[in-house]
Amino acid sequence: MTAQLFIDGTWQTASCATRLPVFNPSNGEQIASVACASEADVELAVQAAQRALPAWSQRPASERAAYLRAFAAQIEARGPQLIELQMRNSGKPRHEAELDIADAIATFVYYADLADGLDARQNAAVALPDSSYQAFTRLEPLGVVGLIVPWNFPLVTSAWKLAPALAAGCCVVLKPSELTPLIELQLGEIASAIGLPAGVFNLLPGDAATGAALVAHPQIAKLSFTGSNAVGRKVMQAASARTLPVALELGGKSPILVFADSDLEQAVQWIIAGICWNAGQMCSATSRLLVEESIADALLDRLASALAALKVGDPHSEGCEMGPMTSQAQLHKVLEYFAIAEREGLQCLGGARQLPGPGWFVAPTLYADVPQDSRLWREEIFGPVLCTRRFKDEADALQQANACDFALAATVVSADRNRALRVAAALEAGHVWINSAQVIYPHTSWGGGKASGIGRELGPWGLSAFQQVKHITVPHADS
Ligand code: NAD
Repeated sequence: MTAQLFIDGTWQTASCATRLPVFNPSNGEQIASVACASEADVELAVQAAQRALPAWSQRPASERAAYLRAFAAQIEARGPQLIELQMRNSGKPRHEAELDIADAIATFVYYADLADGLDARQNAAVALPDSSYQAFTRLEPLGVVGLIVPWNFPLVTSAWKLAPALAAGCCVVLKPSELTPLIELQLGEIASAIGLPAGVFNLLPGDAATGAALVAHPQIAKLSFTGSNAVGRKVMQAASARTLPVALELGGKSPILVFADSDLEQAVQWIIAGICWNAGQMCSATSRLLVEESIADALLDRLASALAALKVGDPHSEGCEMGPMTSQAQLHKVLEYFAIAEREGLQCLGGARQLPGPGWFVAPTLYADVPQDSRLWREEIFGPVLCTRRFKDEADALQQANACDFALAATVVSADRNRALRVAAALEAGHVWINSAQVIYPHTSWGGGKASGIGRELGPWGLSAFQQVKHITVPHADS
């Protein structure tokens, strides 16, 4: 398939000949190449979306909801193929790939439900302090929006943006990551299969230049970006030139706090899920472990053994618990942090090495008593690398947890529910899990503060992110 840009409801050939290689990280082999959309292709996609906008935005929202349900049904029907693609292109173990599919389905269904109730909520009366005037609230779609997503959860991050944008009545130009575009190409197939009106959803595989052209396009009403802080800053800078609204879902360095009253076996499971899921390539990875002094040695002992026993390998191999780094660049980044740890003299309790290839595997890694000024404690590594410190009491735990540039997520482990709730309230994070790990429902919000970004996805906030508020104020009929 060479026509790989989904523009105006059809598959089109890119205007330039550049092809982007796509790899299987489990063996380092190239498995495909995809087209790379140029600035001219961005122009075509935005124009198609602009043409589609009036009809799509004015449709009854319940009709848009029907398309979202059709998206969900198609993802479900294509589940086996999508799971296989995630395993081959991202290196996700089967159970993780399955969960991504379930997440995407749940997200489309959730926003279909929200869209169903949208028209009934239009023109809601505002209570005014006197009877001279009446005012009504309208929630209108922003227009044509640009969506740019990363490679670590390709289907999920796309669904989190695409479903609410379509529900709100926006038309969309989506640019997937150059590393994992195969999944999103399926979204184009789905849009075609369900008869989504031409131009409502446009898909542009491409690279950084494609993304930059989308951000710079004058007819984009909002840019919703998920990715690294370095690129997020560039997006914000480019957007400021024309006061383009941006939503930024960026990096994290999230803490997991384990109190002395915890069940250690259970705590170890949640700690591992928080750092080894998707081989640690998660914005919300709980990569800073804070453990109460009295149990620290016992917990670290168990943790080191459990990490060493983790089955790392090709996602298709029997019992695989952790796959490879998704790209060679990410492998090298993680290896560079191992070298930094050595230079800093960190105490390693296991891992810190590349595993035999041919794929891009690293061993789950544990560092103890990492100084607060260590680069490994402060920077997002995006790999299965866990740094730990001890705390004296609740106040010390909170101080250490919040002393961080990021504020995306956190986990609290304690048998004392009241304490856990108190700590959760005091943590600087957009999402806190208590006695669990990385549980995300589309009904709850996603996003963080500080360097973790701007705005919230999921829940009703995810829909609001693609709407603008209009008030109509009129003299009261009787006045
Ligand atoms: P990245 O910033 O390198 O790339 C993200 C996307 O931006 C890609 O599609 C890329 O092609 C595009 N891009 C690159 N340069 C661009 C430019 N100048 N203008 C516009 N677009 C450009 O990020 P990545 O390496 O793909 O993803 C990993 C990062 O994403 C990590 O930092 C992770 O924490 C973050 N992330 C955050 C969340 C969240 O919800 N907060 C979720 C997933 C990933």
